[in-house]
Amino acid sequence: MKISVLTIFPEMYAALNSSVIGKALEKELFSVEVHNIRDYSLNKHKKCDDYPFGGGAGMVMTPQPLHDAINAVDPGHEAVRIYLSPKGETLNQKIVTELAREDHIVLINGSYEGIDERVIELDVDREISIGDYVLTSGDIASLVVINAVARYIPDVLGSEQSTEEESFSAGMLEYPQYTRPQEFMGLRVPEVLLSGNHAEIAEWRRQESLRITAERRPDLLYGRDGDK
Ligand code: SAM
Repeated sequence: MKISVLTIFPEMYAALNSSVIGKALEKELFSVEVHNIRDYSLNKHKKCDDYPFGGGAGMVMTPQPLHDAINAVDPGHEAVRIYLSPKGETLNQKIVTELAREDHIVLINGSYEGIDERVIELDVDREISIGDYVLTSGDIASLVVINAVARYIPDVLGSEQSTEEESFSAGMLEYPQYTRPQEFMGLRVPEVLLSGNHAEIAEWRRQESLRITAERRPDLLYGRDGDK
């Protein structure tokens, strides 16, 4: 998979060079190409923003540099073109797994008060938000999308990590995890986890997942088979 990022803050993507994501990029399990939108501006000062028609606070990203950048990195419109926006559909695990199946994704990052609406009309397939709050630019949202999607690319996670049982994968939050020592500050690991009885451990984990999900995110349980 290739991810093309369009941004006016390319330096923010240095964050991708660490952890398992950095290792996966080194091993070329997927690639991220970061393009500076300013490089596509036909303005002699490489300007990419202007005052909003109709007045109001702030600046708006002009259509020309964005339109040209998008069509330069995805000339035949074969990629899924995503504009990171607080007005988009909220990112969740279902969207992440859908995106992980794509060959090429273009992440379009706004800044200032956002981007000219005509770019969305002409060039954007999908708008994605990472939550109900407003960031100064789309870049942190893009980093979230890249991190979440990369975890579903084959071999990115080592065999010690798995996406199968973790929170949201089965429509529930994950059960509590424990490691050594068996007792810490007077708190013992639940006996069942030390029992070696795999069926009982699986059942305890299922019950804990249900309990935690019901307490914290009952919305995830609504609609599960048998609960409708
Ligand atoms: N004026 C816009 C509004 O009220 O909807 C907000 C613009 S925001 C200051 C600048 C840019 O940050 C947006 O163009 C978008 O790319 C990005 N952004 C802000 N919040 C976001 C969120 N929750 N999810 C994804 N992208 C976001």
